[in-house]
Amino acid sequence: MQSFADRIRSDGAQFRRRAVDILQVNLGRYCNLACIHCHVESGPTRTEMMSRENVDAVLCFLASTDIPTLDITGGAPELHGDFDFLVESARQIGRRVMDRCNLTVIFEPGKNYLPEFFRRHHVELICSLPCYSLENVDKQRGKGTFDSSIQALKIFNRLGYGQPDSGLILNLVYNPVGPHLPPAQEQLEQDYKRILSEQFGIVFNHLFCLTNMPITRYATHLKLRGEYDPYMDLLETNFNARTLDQVMCHDLISIGWDGWVYDCDFNQMLDLAITGKNGQRLHISSLSLAQLTQPAIKFGDHCYACTAGSGSSCGGTLI
Ligand code: SF4
Ligand code: SF4
Repeated sequence: MQSFADRIRSDGAQFRRRAVDILQVNLGRYCNLACIHCHVESGPTRTEMMSRENVDAVLCFLASTDIPTLDITGGAPELHGDFDFLVESARQIGRRVMDRCNLTVIFEPGKNYLPEFFRRHHVELICSLPCYSLENVDKQRGKGTFDSSIQALKIFNRLGYGQPDSGLILNLVYNPVGPHLPPAQEQLEQDYKRILSEQFGIVFNHLFCLTNMPITRYATHLKLRGEYDPYMDLLETNFNARTLDQVMCHDLISIGWDGWVYDCDFNQMLDLAITGKNGQRLHISSLSLAQLTQPAIKFGDHCYACTAGSGSSCGGTLI
């Protein structure tokens, strides 16, 4: 297999951050689910959570910039004690807030206020629903997840989420159940819309198709089945140079629960931190935008997952 580094060198591609349009913050590893494909290796036994000091540092940095979008992720970020504070504070300074929600979290004890909270603060919801079939969703995310997810979507719809002209955005996320590339996003979105509407009366805005990232828990899952090498070969064979200009690390940075700064959530999980001129890691507590324009993006073979086929990012396919 040709390394990703050699591949982009031979293509003469530029792999540098152009700007920071999205500040993605990982509030922690704790989650009420423990999905097979989870690159964060989240689950109910994880205890790593962002400190209030680092949440304050995130807000301080955000306020010192004109970065328009705060993208909150986890784990299940809503289970962090400072989630509401972070959302309210970011909205108060006029930023767009996106929440990566696993849907089932609103049924956790004491969390039934969340749908109304999201509506009040115009939080954009990006919700995982890896299939429209119960069997596939429960296989990947755990028994009962599909039914809870459908119930949650109905609640969001009743509040106006996903409804035409409501201004309340509800996007869904698909990722393959097996070790293959996602199908064409537009076609799958039509299928999701038709089936969810016919069977459950559910509406939503857009479907984002993501390629599974072969790192951490998902890499272990593939290796145990002898599927890791074939999957990497599949990604490399389908490398598409046209995606290089669109990969999300060109205009996003990712902050870990412990405040370190990364090119993306995947590099965060691989501990490939952005480093400054003298090789030291950058931390949110002393971060400035100027520090982010110079360092080259830290790529590796996992970047094939972002650049295979139509490409993949936290916002779906790239081209
Ligand atoms: S819901 Fe999301 S964060 Fe939680 S285990 Fe599943 S993929 Fe990971
Ligand atoms: S994993 Fe994707 S987003 Fe992260 S550095 Fe590689 S190409 Fe960029």
